[in-house]
Amino acid sequence: MSDSAPQPSILMVEDEEDIAFLLRFLLERHGYAVQHAADGRQALAALGEGAPPDLVLLDVMLPFHDGLEVLERLRQRPAWQAVPVLMLTAKARESDVVRALELGADDYVTKPFQPDELLARLRRLMRRR
Ligand code: CA
Repeated sequence: MSDSAPQPSILMVEDEEDIAFLLRFLLERHGYAVQHAADGRQALAALGEGAPPDLVLLDVMLPFHDGLEVLERLRQRPAWQAVPVLMLTAKARESDVVRALELGADDYVTKPFQPDELLARLRRLMRRR
């Protein structure tokens, strides 16, 4: 990346270590700066720190506070209201998807996700800003 084009930043909220590792590898390789929150508590803490990222990648099933609660709290913060949120959901939990969209998620990807699909959805949301 050149100095003139700052890296887009992503807050990645994911508690499963293997998936977080894979996501970080994938996203950094495609030029994104990744901040990782490993559970709901860390995610809520991240809401209170500095400027919001360009996008939030948010897992639904998390320890302490689930992704839906994090999303709800995130949207209550004025600075975070327009930040695109892409949810990661388990395939069998369609009710989570409905709830997430109602709470202001922009899109979702079901696990296990295809890297190309995830990247395409990320790019689409970031272009829309
Ligand atoms: Ca999880």
